[in-house]
Amino acid sequence: MITRVLYIDPSDFKESELVPAADVIKSGGLVIFPTETVYGIGADATRPECAAKIYSAKGRPSDNPLIVHLADPSDAEQYAYTSPLFYRLAGAFMPGPLTVIMPKKDSIPTTVTGGLDSVAVRVPSHPVANALIRLSGLPIAAPSANISGRPSATNAGYALRDFNGRADVIVDGGESDCGLESTIVRITGRDSLLLLRPGAVTPDEIMKKAGCVLEISDAVTGKLAEGERPLSPGMKYRHYSPSKPLTLVSGSREARIRFFRKAQETENAAVICYDEQLPHLRRENAIPAGGETDLETQAHRLFYALRAADSLPCGSIYANLPPASGLGLALYNRLIRAAAYRIEDADSAPDKNTRK
Ligand code: AMP
Ligand code: MG
Repeated sequence: MITRVLYIDPSDFKESELVPAADVIKSGGLVIFPTETVYGIGADATRPECAAKIYSAKGRPSDNPLIVHLADPSDAEQYAYTSPLFYRLAGAFMPGPLTVIMPKKDSIPTTVTGGLDSVAVRVPSHPVANALIRLSGLPIAAPSANISGRPSATNAGYALRDFNGRADVIVDGGESDCGLESTIVRITGRDSLLLLRPGAVTPDEIMKKAGCVLEISDAVTGKLAEGERPLSPGMKYRHYSPSKPLTLVSGSREARIRFFRKAQETENAAVICYDEQLPHLRRENAIPAGGETDLETQAHRLFYALRAADSLPCGSIYANLPPASGLGLALYNRLIRAAAYRIEDADSAPDKNTRK
């Protein structure tokens, strides 16, 4: 299969330019497209064989469900049992980077939902994604456009590296805005939600704007116990991982800089650092990922930084442990998985020069 590339300028395009991509969705094929979170690899969400194609292209375990992308929140009626809380969330955050899980209707095959009787829906705000869904006239099942377990793709080049020859069309619409996948909540009651995956929409914003309580699932910051059944199946899989071991580093500012420098000297390690740390480090093995307090830029650059660090000639990667609150919670959640839960405290770490 040859993957056709369609270049679309998100700030200036005619819907007709997307007709070839919409036709591929209608005829049961795979289309990679930009969203405001990350790139997605999508197909018709109403046909089980289309979902099967996505799982096989990604190498994704078939019990890890796909998010169904819609053009408008009111379309959710056709696929899910909605509630007033859903419409409050939709009014505040849709279109945008929020995914809501509700009981599913029969119109969505269980292949899409990994066998679950619930469905995750999202209305992307990216103009290209939105137009593609509208033109195809179908809900589009689309996980992130990366081979299962690898960092998500935030531009067409990264997506193509994973899927050239495995998707019918890729729509190149430039860089994704947020750079992190959507926030996922499950509706658990009339006025209650469970946060399954943090993202750009933060817990405080959700509670304030939707007037509800939100519980944060333990799996957001922690590790599942052996044999524990996750509420969101994606949580049990290794995720976002570079091919080299990543370790997160906590501790005082000074201790972290000392720690990173020693790691560069003794292990030839790559460091994903704050911009402020860069002058203190060996630049050729340091990837600046935004200012220390600029969490938006850090979110935007996270997957780029993981891929960039991975491609340096180094044996290991270190990064700062982010604060587990606000937008930092989303960074923490992704990094802790990418690091397979490895954290070192720079204040109590032995001097790396004296290590064997
Ligand atoms: P991705 O599409 O790669 O961003 O991953 C989607 C995430 O949504 C995965 O972690 C899934 O486990 C989660 N998800 C999708 N549908 C459901 C559902 N019905 N119930 C729980 N989690 C879901
Ligand atoms: Mg993913």
